[in-house]
Amino acid sequence: MRKPRFDHIGIAVRSIEDAALFRDLGLTVAHVEIVETQNVKTAFIPVGDANLELLEATSGDSPIAKFIEKRGEGIHHICLRVDQIDEHLETLKAKGYRLVNESAVPGAHGCRVAFLHPSAGNGVLIELSEKADELPNVPEDDVEAIL
Ligand code: ZN
Repeated sequence: MRKPRFDHIGIAVRSIEDAALFRDLGLTVAHVEIVETQNVKTAFIPVGDANLELLEATSGDSPIAKFIEKRGEGIHHICLRVDQIDEHLETLKAKGYRLVNESAVPGAHGCRVAFLHPSAGNGVLIELSEKADELPNVPEDDVEAIL
């Protein structure tokens, strides 16, 4: 198994459209997607080799809506990319770590993801993600239209 790599930081926002800072810094959204399983809309913003992921709730019972209600907008999770998510989850379970997802669920752009409980990650919600294929290529004009 290869070592996990840093993939992205998830930021809970009230509105992706209103999150102008990153655009004003010259960054561009590469991919926008609704993740039905999490009731969130996500916008991926590449920053060097990693990404920022803006997360907006699509319904009141979304984990993001609950997070913002409790703590306001801010850093929501850190995502590590792994090659064999099932093996990692089995190992962590066997070691007694508390997992939000005991097995991988569908995430953005075809990834398989699982969240580990913040109590397992020193207070930080950790997402493990196993990539499917390359990110779909969204022409920049479309991206501007989306945002
Ligand atoms: Zn994420």
